[in-house]
Amino acid sequence: MVGTDLKAKLMTMQGLDERLKSHCCEMMTEHVNHRCEDHSNSFDCPDNLILYSGRTKSYGIIVHDGGSSVIEIQFCPWCGIKLSNA
Ligand SMILES: [Zn+2]
Ligand SMILES: [Zn+2]
Repeated sequence: MVGTDLKAKLMTMQGLDERLKSHCCEMMTEHVNHRCEDHSNSFDCPDNLILYSGRTKSYGIIVHDGGSSVIEIQFCPWCGIKLSNA
């Protein structure tokens, strides 16, 4: 349900809304834009896997160990594209 809703939003807002910008693939976009009503903090939500930093343009996998650890990733786990701009 959430995925379908997001897809619809992406189609109507593509290129118009910076908050919901698209990423390398549908899966990545979905995870980066993941918002949960039950968990206001990204690190508290077990469904939230990817953290994207618009400032550094880097992607990280959230480590759900109770803290706020993120493992930076160089390649997309879904489509395999190189993520880092370096
Ligand atoms: Zn991807
Ligand atoms: Zn959640």
